[in-house]
Amino acid sequence: MSTAPEKHPNLDFDPDALREKYREERDKRLRTEGNDQYQEVEGKFAHFVDDPYVEPGFTREPLTDEVDVIIIGGGFGGQLAAARLREAGVHNLRIIEKGGDFGGTWYWNRYPGAQCDIESYMYLPLLEEVGYIPREKYSFASEIKAHAERIGKAYDLYSCACFQTEVKEMRWDQEAGLWTIRTDRDDAMRARFVIISGGPFNRPKLPGVPGIEDFQGHTFHTSRWDYAYTGGDETGNLHKLGDKRVAVIGTGATAIQCIPHLGRAAQQLYVFQRTPSSVDERGNKPTDPEWVKTLEPGWQRQRRENFSDVLAGVTDVDLVNDGWTDIFRKMPNLLAPGEKDESLDPEEIARAVELADFEKMNQVRKRVEATVKDRETAEALKPWYRQFCKRPTFSDDYLPTFNRPNVQLVDTQGRGVERVTPRGIFANGTEYEVDCIIFATGFEFGTAYTRRQGFEIWGRDGLALTDYWQDGPRTFHGYASRGFPNLFHVGLLQSGFSPNFTTVADDQTQHYAYIIQQVRERGYQRVEPSAQAEQEWVDTIKNLSLDSLEFLEACTPGFFNNEGKPRAGNGPVENQYGPGINAFHRLMAEWREDGDLKGLELS
Ligand code: NDP
Repeated sequence: MSTAPEKHPNLDFDPDALREKYREERDKRLRTEGNDQYQEVEGKFAHFVDDPYVEPGFTREPLTDEVDVIIIGGGFGGQLAAARLREAGVHNLRIIEKGGDFGGTWYWNRYPGAQCDIESYMYLPLLEEVGYIPREKYSFASEIKAHAERIGKAYDLYSCACFQTEVKEMRWDQEAGLWTIRTDRDDAMRARFVIISGGPFNRPKLPGVPGIEDFQGHTFHTSRWDYAYTGGDETGNLHKLGDKRVAVIGTGATAIQCIPHLGRAAQQLYVFQRTPSSVDERGNKPTDPEWVKTLEPGWQRQRRENFSDVLAGVTDVDLVNDGWTDIFRKMPNLLAPGEKDESLDPEEIARAVELADFEKMNQVRKRVEATVKDRETAEALKPWYRQFCKRPTFSDDYLPTFNRPNVQLVDTQGRGVERVTPRGIFANGTEYEVDCIIFATGFEFGTAYTRRQGFEIWGRDGLALTDYWQDGPRTFHGYASRGFPNLFHVGLLQSGFSPNFTTVADDQTQHYAYIIQQVRERGYQRVEPSAQAEQEWVDTIKNLSLDSLEFLEACTPGFFNNEGKPRAGNGPVENQYGPGINAFHRLMAEWREDGDLKGLELS
């Protein structure tokens, strides 16, 4: 594609040179192993996912009873499912949750500085229903977790929760028309309907490097922060690290938030980087009480829909005004005069978006230069890829941390650390001796669904979901699969996508509550999609998602593009409904309005 800068007098960069640079940086990082490069947290690594927040020794009698609906997962998705079912008049529920309380991601991720990167007024669910307004534009983890507890109380969810319980398998009993769920507590519970909401980031992963088990010092994953070792709490003050040499592996959204606290506290901090994050301004601020007074009923949905519309580029009104929406606000200024009419063809639009992206990332890179004093470190911290190749991050403290004398960036030029030794980390031909290694290496995302959930799902005639989805998810409208009756999935599977996960979950769970209510009201016991409806939806997703594949292929590897293999079939992002979440929501609303449950078979 030729894009001559002179056609755009307001451009002060060379798009071709940037494209070439992005390609080079991506190629450095492409690995044939893709997702398989990572070390699965099992066997000798299983202790990395022990729950540090509960007292050991909890026991209870196994449960073998029957309920109407079992929800697997007590994060926001599971809570929304339960809340929406309660609102629909379905009360005989049970929530099974691995952790010791509600919260999901926010139960596990209590690392210092943990904060939602989506505006809290949109991210925290059910705000209007429970009458709560977050204290700040971006809430910190403790406020979010408290909100999960608030929802638990408001919807009487504690009375139906089975905490500290991990599902081991679920199996469909065709004769009884029930699911049997077996757990690590020897339960064999039965349920007419099951909703799985395991969360998008539920299974921590480790870098695929040798030697982790031989390290003689202390280690943990950020999602199981060890405050007994570091001292302090989610607000920081990690006072026990004053005499410790600490290494962090990873520089994603989590690392960006905890590294400023580690930099303040550790005697010496080494940050091992494979790919720099795009770090934009955070600009957090307290909630304005005057603004709260202006809110009308329905404001939260309106705000969420506006956010999705801004990201889809279909509105000029921006209620959210933050780093996510910034890039889309900038776009019109980059179009050459006379190009702003709606007759632009898709290629022209794509070019304009790319230019806006270049500009945005130039701004992000200039911010690094302006903040980080050491030239070499600043250069290494510059991200060379399009903004949405990786989840953009936002922090006002991360970059200045590298000006501290006790903090050293170890940039591995896309190679990653080579190995862990008994005394530390080996990278770039040097051994860095440390007392503690913190793995900020994220979570499984593109691996098989059942592996991420941690259990197999056996449908009709002993069909395993792992096998049925071998070549990628197969669903009707993102939640139901042929051969797996009365089973609903919450999450990023062939439905509308938003970086705000609670938007996705809220729309989905309202839909599922409607279906379950309808099946019961109409006097049926089973529901599953017809083979034809499922196939049509799979085709719809494939056809409509093609646009993003080219974009993802040009991206540096990460979980958005299935670690550089967006066409591998199991990739979560390309399996989304292309026209966007608002369009998906409208489609589901029309489907409900039709009232004939088209595509579903009831018996
Ligand atoms: P990520 O997957 O984003 O980051 C993992 C990091 O580990 C990357 O920097 C990766 O490098 C690095 N890494 C992996 N292997 C190696 C290696 N061998 N050597 C060196 N580095 C390595 O995980 P996060 O936990 O940071 O974030 C996961 C997601 O969780 C986010 O994208 C976000 O959606 C969510 N999150 C949300 C927050 C919120 O506010 N709502 C806050 C924090 C997280 P590379 O980039 O090269 O792969």
